Amino acid sequence: MNPCEEIYPKIFKVVQHKPRRIAPPVNIYIIAGDEGMIFDAGYGDDASIRQVGDAINSIQSRNKKWKISRVLISHTHPDHFSGLKQLKDHYGLKVMLTEQMAGVLLNKHAYRDSYTLSPLQKYRYSSMFERMSELPLQFIFRTMYKKVYGIAFLQSHDTTVRSGETISIDGYNFGIIHAPGHCNDHIMLYDKKEGILFAGDNILRSIYTWLGPPRSNLQEYYNTLEACLRLPKLKLVLSAHGSPIVNPEERIKQIIEYRKLRTIQVYSIVANEKHGITFERLLNSIYPRSFERRWLAKGWIIVTLEYLVDNNILKFEGKKIKLGCNDINTL
Ligand SMILES: [Zn+2]
Repeated sequence: MNPCEEIYPKIFKVVQHKPRRIAPPVNIYIIAGDEGMIFDAGYGDDASIRQVGDAINSIQSRNKKWKISRVLISHTHPDHFSGLKQLKDHYGLKVMLTEQMAGVLLNKHAYRDSYTLSPLQKYRYSSMFERMSELPLQFIFRTMYKKVYGIAFLQSHDTTVRSGETISIDGYNFGIIHAPGHCNDHIMLYDKKEGILFAGDNILRSIYTWLGPPRSNLQEYYNTLEACLRLPKLKLVLSAHGSPIVNPEERIKQIIEYRKLRTIQVYSIVANEKHGITFERLLNSIYPRSFERRWLAKGWIIVTLEYLVDNNILKFEGKKIKLGCNDINTL
């Protein structure tokens, strides 16, 4: 089986699969050249690393001048960074990170801290009962994550990259763009001449990206999507999950519309409650039946609420969510 597919001249795609429902299939891109680069490190288990190794070998065998020598990630979610350490150890790839990413990936404590909710968020969004009932789930998830994702941290990296810099690979010139919203350390790569954007998790073809505290922010996500719409000559989006997007403008506008609808949904539920509503009841009214969906989708509701609170459209009084002083139409 061919370990990778050339989806654009000198750009190859590797898809790593996991059992369904456990972890999503994830895309890794290899840009070939004399200093070729891998964008996103994928999973870190042995089979996934071998798959990337086979792809590197197959690509390098096509052209003697090609050498895949470095790896950069889009952001520090486990399906994108877990392979970094193994790729470095096995294939000698140089690891490129932003300072922000390096801080998160330093060790398990730094990583866990990056996911810790503030005391105010804990107070507002979870009940004591919920926290206790989620503990075993968290333990299961943590163990499963480590095993399935093959998470490994990095005490050091080789090259620090910054937003605004350009990475040149055999005729391609990829500008690094800081693109928070889904994750605060998310970056994207854009080649102006070809109109190609490596969008990571920010723009996906058939699903809407996960949002959740404390590292997602809806205002920042809107800003990132709007900035993508302003990219000159954007014609192809290569995402971290799913197939290439050949109608980027249409898809980005669809995502913005979808988030706006979800924002109005949250607002309307609160607006219909004279005396305010707790987060728990809000969550129940959006997902009345499915516990699983409620648990996974809780994130976007929190991120949407915080966006509405930041804009003074909603406010908290203790644990109760009420209408704020600004009209929803001011958004
Ligand atoms: Zn992600």
